[in-house]
Formats: sequence, structure tokens, C-alpha cells
Amino acid sequence: MLDNKLKEKNSLNITESKPEIWKVEPSTTAKNCKNFIREIVDNLDLKPNPEKPVIALSLGDPTIYGNLKPSPETIQSVIDIIEEGLCNGYAPSVGYENARAAVAEYLSHDNVDVDPRDVILCSGCSSSLEHCITVLADGTKNHNILMPRPGFPIYRTLAEALGVSVRYYNLIPENDWEADLHHLESQIDQNTAAIILNNPSNPCGSVFNEEHIRSILEIAHRHKVPVIADEIYEQIVFPGEKFVSTASLNSQVPILICGGLAKRFLVPGWRVGWIVVHDEIGAFDNVRKALVCLCQRTIGSNTLIQGALPSILQNTPQSFHDELISTLYENAQLTYEGLKNVRGLSPFMPQGTIYMIVEIQMNKFTMFANGLEFAQKMMEEESVFCLPGECFAIPGFMRIVLTVPRDLLQEACERIAEFCNRYYGN
Ligand SMILES: *Cc1c(COP(=O)(O)O)cnc(C)c1O
Repeated sequence: MLDNKLKEKNSLNITESKPEIWKVEPSTTAKNCKNFIREIVDNLDLKPNPEKPVIALSLGDPTIYGNLKPSPETIQSVIDIIEEGLCNGYAPSVGYENARAAVAEYLSHDNVDVDPRDVILCSGCSSSLEHCITVLADGTKNHNILMPRPGFPIYRTLAEALGVSVRYYNLIPENDWEADLHHLESQIDQNTAAIILNNPSNPCGSVFNEEHIRSILEIAHRHKVPVIADEIYEQIVFPGEKFVSTASLNSQVPILICGGLAKRFLVPGWRVGWIVVHDEIGAFDNVRKALVCLCQRTIGSNTLIQGALPSILQNTPQSFHDELISTLYENAQLTYEGLKNVRGLSPFMPQGTIYMIVEIQMNKFTMFANGLEFAQKMMEEESVFCLPGECFAIPGFMRIVLTVPRDLLQEACERIAEFCNRYYGN
């Protein structure tokens, strides 16, 4: 009792003697850390029309509407591992050996032969990307990295937090969103630490052919710039298209390939991704060691999912993947048909992924100063929200997520069409 009284008295004294508010300043790294999508979306005034239920075509998370579920085999793999009780401890920082071997086997096809020792497991593909950018690019050396425009903004978030600047290389809409090779090459200088490739592409839904990937790798080789290949959408390609991994091309370019379970297995929240160190010439000997150190800093990824990985990758049936592709393809066709004749819009039929990019002819909608106002007004009147191109550094476009249920997608297209008809020419 007496003790408590004393404590109370002391704590009171402390407040009395230090009346000013205690503010702790975050570090420069933290202050340099920006989520560009949030920054743009949070600044919009998003009030849906109360008469119409909201249809969110904005979130790159295939699980939110509950229509796309992971396969029963995927789920059972995790249940088994939990019940076995053998994966509750720490794993090696780069991952369990059998999980790395399973990823190596999963990725070994089409002329690719991945060695389990080249696989590092991470907490989602985002964390793979963070390790790759951190290991190659140095803020204190004035390094820059190249990323696609339009492109996934997390690359910029990760780089700028390290004090590494970002340079964009353009993708060309009318060439199926292939990279503008001259522009790409012109962006390289002696401080360029890496070129980021994202194939298949978020937000374009495009899939590079072999020749194009070769051309990019030739540029990387000529300038001795390593490549970070974000292949999180590997194999999510539509009929008639083929996914070509950078690893399959024997290019003599050192490449860090990033991937994971998130999209193809429909479990983004499980947070397991990987890096494959692809290096035929020994250029990455030191980078390899440094990557291990970076992993030791965060002690590796979730052991339950790691433990389940061999079973997930081996037992998830091909029919599951095929069904996902056919659902996405049908949704893409439906959306394309629904939008292609809408005045003022030019949708691009995707070749894969879970996205469609749509051009908005802003000069036909002069009452909107930019794509942000367009997106905001569409939400206000039609309760349909798409991410404006500004989120991907390409104003005048919007991105549609194709994983939402078919009837909602249909309804969304109709509302988008009505909206455009209302404002076209105004
Ligand atoms: C979704 C996505 C990722 C992130 O995957 P996680 O495993 O959830 O971290 C990485 N790159 C691109 C292009 C993506 O769209």
C-alpha cells in the first residue's frame, strides 16, 4: 500500500517537473518511407453514392470478395504442419532446406535448373524485393535503380527509403507495353545499381516475349548492370501466351529473381516469397553472402508456411491453376468487351496477371483536371473505384483488378460506361 502511494507520488512529481510534451523524431529512413498508393488514395475524397453498393476494383488482393479461394491441398498442407508441431522453432535465416529445395524444384522447368542453395525464403515477395534492392543499391554512393513506368510503386518506396534514387524507363502502350529499349538504355549511368523488370506486369497485365527479355538483358550485359526480376505473376498468363523466366535465357547477366505464393496460390497474407540468385558467371559471390546477412537481420520467414511449402508446391493440382487462369481470362474478356466501345476509354486486353489497364482520353473529359478527379467522381456517382494511373506514375490511365466476382465486374463496367457517357465531351 505504502509502496503504491510512493509510486503515485513519484509519478506525479515526474509529470509536474516535466510538463512539456515528449516527442520522439522518427529516423530519416522512416521519414523517407512513403507508400505512394496510400498517399494518393488517402488524399482523394472518396464518398460513394449511398444508392449504389461499392465495387472496389482497386485492391490487388484476390481474396477480398471470397470468390477465389486457395486450393484444399494448399490449406491441408498448413493444417498438417501445424498438427505435426515440428515447425514452431526458428528456421535457418534463409529458410528450411527442404522448403528451399521445393522452390528450386517448382521453378525448374523449361530449360531452367535451380539449385536449392540459390533459393532464399523471405516474408513475401515484397520482402524479397527489399533484400534485393538493399543488397545492390547504396544510398551513400549516390546509386540509382531503374524501374518501369508504369510500374509497381513499392520499388520506389523501398529504394527511396534507402536514399537510392529511382529512374523510370517507359513501357510503350501500343507495343503491348514492351519496354522502350532506347529510353531504358539512356537512363543507365555509372551509378545505376540495378534494373528492375516486372514480368508479367502489374499494372499493365502484359507478358514479355523471349526476344524482348533478351534485348533487355543484352542492355544490362553491355552496361554491367545486374537485374532484379519481379516474377510474382509467373505462369499467370492467358491462353496463347507463354511466360518466359529471365533465368531460362542463359544470359550471363547476374539476376535476382523474386517470386512467391501470394498471387498464384491466392494467399497473399501468408507472407512467403523467395529470391533465386541466378548467376552463371560468379558475379554475385559477395552479393550472395551479403543476402544471407540481410536475412539474418530479420531471422527469416514464417516457419509454418515454410514447412508447408513442399506439400503446397507439389500437391496443389494443375487444375487449380488452370481454373484460376480461366476465371481471370473470362473476367478479362468480359471487362474488355464491356469497356471497348465506351466513349473516351481504351482498355488494353491483358495477356496475363490479375489486372487490366485502361486509358482515359482526358481531353474528352475536360471537366476533370486529371485522372484523380475522374476516379473520385466515378466513386461519388457510381460507387466504383479504380486506382488512378497516378499511382503507377502514368496519369491518364486507370487500373482494374480482375479478381472480383463476374457479376460485380459486369455491373462495374456498366456503371463505368454510364459515367463516361455522362461526361464525354463535357
Ligand atoms: C503483389 C505484388 C508483390 C508482392 O507480393 P507479396 O508476396 O504479397 O509481398 C510484388 N510485386 C508485384 C508486382 C505485385 O503485384
